[in-house]
Amino acid sequence: MIKFLDLQKINLQYQKEIEAKLLQVFRSGWYLLGKEVENFESDLANYIGVKNTIGVANGLDALRLIFKAYKELGVMQSEDEVIVPANTYIASVLAISDNGLVPVFVEPDPQTFNIDISKIEEKITSRTKAIMIVHLYGQVVFSEELRILAEKYNLKIVEDNAQAIGAEWNGIKTGNLGDAAGFSFYPGKNLGALGDSGAVSTRDDQLAETVRILANYGSSKKYINKYQGLNSRLDELQAAVLDIKLKYVDRENEKRRKVANYYLENIKNPEIILPFISDCPVNKSHVWHLFVIRSEKRDELQEYLSRNNIQTLIHYPVPPHKQEAYSSYNLLSLPLTEKLSGEVLSLPMSPVLTEEEMEHICKIISKF
Ligand SMILES: *Cc1c(COP(=O)(O)O)cnc(C)c1O
Repeated sequence: MIKFLDLQKINLQYQKEIEAKLLQVFRSGWYLLGKEVENFESDLANYIGVKNTIGVANGLDALRLIFKAYKELGVMQSEDEVIVPANTYIASVLAISDNGLVPVFVEPDPQTFNIDISKIEEKITSRTKAIMIVHLYGQVVFSEELRILAEKYNLKIVEDNAQAIGAEWNGIKTGNLGDAAGFSFYPGKNLGALGDSGAVSTRDDQLAETVRILANYGSSKKYINKYQGLNSRLDELQAAVLDIKLKYVDRENEKRRKVANYYLENIKNPEIILPFISDCPVNKSHVWHLFVIRSEKRDELQEYLSRNNIQTLIHYPVPPHKQEAYSSYNLLSLPLTEKLSGEVLSLPMSPVLTEEEMEHICKIISKF
């Protein structure tokens, strides 16, 4: 069976280094709010090219904390609206609604499946306070027009950068394109921990300070609480592992690009639409968290691949507005998002996929 993602194989590449470090942290007796987190935060900030990063417990919390901080700072209030792509993982939307803000869905670009920037302005009202962009599947979504639009209406741009660490737009890394960004280091992400963790990045010192306090019970001084915060901290063990893996993330993203290029050149089947890249495939606008193909015969194709020992996944089978959790949005009509959810299929994608596996996958798919 060719696995969709072989996490064990990915992490065993760094076995010696990680095991030695874990043992060191274990023996240190210091497990939270220590120098491993500090080191990782500063290395991540350098890597992104952004002034502040704050390690938190997971990617959803990173996004939740950004909006919570904007509310504490008076930038946003309950019932304010946040533009969000309709075609995204539910966490993007949860971060908004959990803060009493209202998600306003925008349909995807039919080629990239990322938010259609040209459809944002028509959704802006007097209550709109932010645009959330999601660099879905690892592909950057940004433009000068978007920046100008945000400026014109005085909107914050919040990046959901859970899937695109290392991607760049005109030499600027994702996580430094908007006003604030949330990262996820869920084990399966391009930079994955050995459990849950995440981070916030921002140029804005005041926002950074507020997020840091909110993530630590709303307290900057022990037992003195400024806000009604959360407990959402990155721990020392995860930070130590992430700091090691961060050194290799560019190399791993480069391998993902090789896999993607191989697929793009070798999958030949009229039943299948291959992913579209805004620029040339070798550049840095895509870090290929996922390689998502599209087919009207998606379910049949997935079953065929499974019979041929190729594991695939669907990102995502039910869009957020069609979930029971968002029943008040269930009747919204977002036809392109809905159509995509019935046609997308994610092929095995990882930095440790072998040439033989890639060859086999392409051969099998081309025969479907
Ligand atoms: C993974 C993911 C998240 C949430 O991250 P967690 O660490 O799992 O909480 C948010 N948004 C997107 C687009 C994701 O893929």
